[in-house]
Parts: sequence; C-alpha cells; structure tokens
Amino acid sequence: MSKSPEQEEHPRKAFGWAARDASGILSPFNFSRRENGIDDVAIKILYCGVCHSDLHLAKNDWGYTMYPVVPGHEIVGVVTEVGSNVTNLKVGEHVGVGAMVGSCKTCQSCQQDLENYCPKMIFTYNSINYDGTKTYGGYSDMVVVNKDFVLRWPDNLPPDSGAPLLCAGITVYSPMKYYGMTEPGKHLGVVGLGGLGHIAVKLGKAFGLKVTVISTSPHKEAEATERLGADSFIVSRDPVKVKAALGTMDYIIDTVSAVHPLAPLLGLLKPHGKLITLGLPDKPLELPIFPLVLGRKLVGGSDIGGIKETQEMLEFCAKHNIAADIELIQMDYINTAMERLAKADVQYRFVIDVANSLSQYVMS
Ligand SMILES: [Zn+2]
Ligand SMILES: [Zn+2]
Repeated sequence: MSKSPEQEEHPRKAFGWAARDASGILSPFNFSRRENGIDDVAIKILYCGVCHSDLHLAKNDWGYTMYPVVPGHEIVGVVTEVGSNVTNLKVGEHVGVGAMVGSCKTCQSCQQDLENYCPKMIFTYNSINYDGTKTYGGYSDMVVVNKDFVLRWPDNLPPDSGAPLLCAGITVYSPMKYYGMTEPGKHLGVVGLGGLGHIAVKLGKAFGLKVTVISTSPHKEAEATERLGADSFIVSRDPVKVKAALGTMDYIIDTVSAVHPLAPLLGLLKPHGKLITLGLPDKPLELPIFPLVLGRKLVGGSDIGGIKETQEMLEFCAKHNIAADIELIQMDYINTAMERLAKADVQYRFVIDVANSLSQYVMS
C-alpha cells in the first residue's frame, strides 16, 4: 500500500501548524520536507501573512484541500542553505516566497515570465511538487524552495509588514501594470477596503493616481482618506454620492469576493474605462453589455503575477515605502485570527510572527 505524502519520511524535519479536516482548526504538526537539492534554497521562516485563501483552503471551501494542510504563501525568511547551482542567493540573506514554488518552465506562459498562468504551476501549499512531495506552506519553521521561485528581499522593506506584498501586493500590482492603470493624474476607484484594497490605495497613490475608495462601510471613510491617503470615499449605497461620481473614473479595481452587482461600477467609469475584478465570487456575476458596447468599456481579471514582476513590485514598494497595515500575531492565535478574518475584522492583514512563536515548542 502506498503511503500518503505526509506519512513519507523526507530528510528535513519540519514543524508547523496544520488543519486536519473541514473544521479548519489549526494545531501543531510535525512533518518533513525534501532534501535541499542542487537548485534549492532552504529558508528559515520569520514571518508569514494570513491570506484569505488560507482560510478557504483550511476549511475546504473550494473542495480540493488535501489534509493535513499547512497554509501560508506570504513567506519572509532567511536563507540557511543553498544548493550548488544557486549563485544569486547567499546564506543569511532575507528572501520571500509567494503563492507558487514551481512551474513547467517550457510553456508559453513560463517563457514570458508569467509562471502564474502556467497550467502546471505548483502552489506553495496544498499541491504536489514535480518530485512527488506534497507542498506545505509558511505556517511552519522552514521551507525548501527551487531557486527560481525565491525572491530577493529589498533591504529597506520591513520583513513583517512587507510579507503580504507577496500575495496581496502582486495581485494588485500586476493588473495595474498589465492593463495600463498607472498613468499619473488618472482616477482609480478601489472597491472593498480589505487586504487587497488597502494596498491598491497605496499603489495607486505611488503611481500618482487620484484614488477613490468605494465601500459598503461608511465607518471606513476616515481610515481610507486620513490613514491610507485616498483622495475621496464613496459609500456604495449612497445614491447622491454615487450619482455625483458617475462617469468620472478611468480605472476600477474590484476586490470584492461576495456576489455583487457590476452595473453601478460600470456606471462610474468614463468611456474606455477598465474594471478589473480580483475577487472570486462563488457564483457568476451579471454582466450588463450595454455600457461595455456604448462606452467601449472593458472588464478583466488577473491572478497574482510572475516571479520577475513580483521582484519588480517588491523593489517598487521598497522605493515608495509601501507595506501592508498589519496586526502581528503569535501562532497560537491563528484560530482566533481565522474567525476574525472570516468577519473581515482585521486592519488589514494578520501576519504571524512565525520564528518567535514556534521557538517555544520543543521539537520532537
Ligand atoms: Zn494569497
Ligand atoms: Zn509552464
């Protein structure tokens, strides 16, 4: 009888927190990782952001979770070992690992530095790597990653509040670049002020855009305009403010994952405006065609970004002092953090203080 991947003994002992079933409750978990090969980098994990997809996968919301699952794909750590083929990274350097750790390297997407659209892309956790080992994420003490998926960490980027850039940051940055949403002076609408939305506001300001936050929560206005630097704020249910903003926006980034109407957002766009959706509603949305045709408007999507672009984004954020607004937590707070995340009760990202909070556990 073949062993399941987590029962197999690999050379590297590892320790983290895993969910074992659809309750999504995480608890301490001893496991093992593959040997550090000639193309690999071994990383001691310092910090890991808590992405909304960690919650979905811990609870098997998408139906493909392979338990036990160690979530986490916003990883910042220190290199502890490099394989003989690794020339661009040294022991002791800070590095980052985002949502993917492998791709085929031969398909058209891979050839164009768009590994994130490779049909054989390996996710950082809950995936099976090319060597047959199961991938486990950053809610753990260490990880072994192929060198091509390890990001250099800019010196002046904070390792804790910078961690969420590895998923939330690139998820916003990549479409802004691809869809040409960076022209200074243009007007950007950001729908939803959560993990993605608050970084979209910061990136938008760094690109020189006028930024308006569109939210269902009136109480977020002060945060949006005073703390995050948005130029204006619209409560989406306020007909007067919505009417005043009709036809004023060049671009909209929509981060909402709940089912919601697109027609009002298309109404906010100028002719030739672009609405880019990043959330993943579990049911199809209704797409009105009249405003698209009559205003030559565009609706598009986007998913994280390639490694090269992720590196570029980290350097852009370092240069412009952009990081996430975070609540730093200990590992044993993760179940409470997940409950709060489900209620959007976080400003705006939990980051786990991994190295400090795991050091209290005695390795068995
Ligand atoms: Zn993520
Ligand atoms: Zn590929």
